[in-house]
Amino acid sequence: MTDYPAHDCDFCPGTVEAFYTHHEPLKVSGTLVLIEGFTIGKCNRCGHRYFPAEVLKRAEQVAQDTAKASHSETVPIVAA
Ligand SMILES: [Zn+2]
Repeated sequence: MTDYPAHDCDFCPGTVEAFYTHHEPLKVSGTLVLIEGFTIGKCNRCGHRYFPAEVLKRAEQVAQDTAKASHSETVPIVAA
């Protein structure tokens, strides 16, 4: 997982470019996880994030079994 091929955004005329994640929040199966150290795609215009299938698969595994997480931290939710 070292590169993400640039492509057109599905939602706007922008371009989706490789984006290295540090603590990128992602909700999978109703659980919020943070994606760290993967390269995903991010639109340079609308900011829509594209998670490669491998990243989503790993995220779902961790969401279903948090013991598989590399490490954990509490994620405070800010809601209106
Ligand atoms: Zn876009």
